[in-house]
Amino acid sequence: MPLFPEIKEDFSLHSFNTFHIDSIARYFTEVNSIENLKEFIASGKLNENPFLVLGGGSNLLFTGNFKGIVVHIINKGIEIINRTDDSVIVKAAAGENWHEFVTYCVNQGFGGLENLSLIPGNVGSCPIQNIGAYGVEVKDSILSVEAIDIQSGELLAFSKEECRFGYRDSIFKRDLKGKFAICSVTFELKLNPVVHLEYGAIKQELSAMEIGNPTIADISKAVCAIRHSKLPDPKLLGNAGSFFKNPTVNQKIAEKLTETFPRIVSYPLGNEKVKLAAGWLIEQCGWKGFRDGDAGVHENQSLVLVNYGNATGSNILTLAHRIQNSVYERFGVKLEMEVNVI
Ligand SMILES: Cc1cc2nc3c(=O)[nH]c(=O)nc-3n(C[C@H](O)[C@H](O)[C@H](O)COP(=O)(O)OP(=O)(O)OC[C@H]3O[C@@H](n4cnc5c(N)ncnc54)[C@H](O)[C@@H]3O)c2cc1C
Repeated sequence: MPLFPEIKEDFSLHSFNTFHIDSIARYFTEVNSIENLKEFIASGKLNENPFLVLGGGSNLLFTGNFKGIVVHIINKGIEIINRTDDSVIVKAAAGENWHEFVTYCVNQGFGGLENLSLIPGNVGSCPIQNIGAYGVEVKDSILSVEAIDIQSGELLAFSKEECRFGYRDSIFKRDLKGKFAICSVTFELKLNPVVHLEYGAIKQELSAMEIGNPTIADISKAVCAIRHSKLPDPKLLGNAGSFFKNPTVNQKIAEKLTETFPRIVSYPLGNEKVKLAAGWLIEQCGWKGFRDGDAGVHENQSLVLVNYGNATGSNILTLAHRIQNSVYERFGVKLEMEVNVI
């Protein structure tokens, strides 16, 4: 592989995004090391064109052709940095596949990520929206994030605090959006893990598996089984998981909503805040299973928008706007998109 990455022109991104939108990138390149990326930045190519850093393409919606450079991060490597009696510090390259990394950790007995099994995408993207599932967020296991400044080419380390993690949120989605390419993530994982079984579905799955005292491997297995049964496989049906975030409202608003809609699904967060289940709101507006051409709402999961084949990104986005409008009209609640619209 040459040090300077090859640049392809008019490159189809169809198999590089899980919505399977046939967007064409004017330029496309793959970088397999930090040196590669530094070299590329030094060439000035990223200053001449709009650019997009791409991981597994599982949290993106292309709404047209991309008129700049797509930089696909594919560096690999997992390194154990330190080990004590209780914990282990592991650094993983951004281009590692997330589920393969979780599986590696589970097989080694490193606990903390097992509830996040089978989330699509790469390690480098996990801090961006602080991925979460089944009662766990990745921020709880992240120690630091290493990223390159796209302008200067400087490699910087961000502590967990500097990442400013929130619900499906971090500094990389806000102040630093599009300014850094994440190269690696360092995790602190537990050697005597505390298992997280708060989510009812995990308990049910484990009891169906007749497991009373689960290991992290059992939890990973249970999570994979639940995800296989509930979520559409992007290989078979284009989607990017939950299209919207669960909205957070003030307690007073939540109380008013509960008076009018007694069956509303909500979770108290403390601090007078309440999280509402976006899927429930969408379902109440009649969108579950809706289809317009090849753009649709999944028949079992109202939060998941799907591409039945030849939908364009604009078709999906139009549907997303219609859903947002109807939820706002009925409940007065604004739904924010979780997926990155490009
Ligand atoms: C079926 C399905 C289920 C899902 N379930 C969940 C879930 O349970 N929980 C959850 O949190 N998410 C879930 N997701 C969303 C998605 O898997 C995650 O957000 C994942 O972290 C995205 O990773 P990616 O590598 O595919 O990112 P991409 O889609 O490639 O990129 C996402 C964003 O990050 C940027 N980016 C990517 N890599 C880098 C990098 N190295 N440096 C800087 N910026 C970068 C991109 O520019 C883009 O803005 C699901 C998606 C699908 C399809």
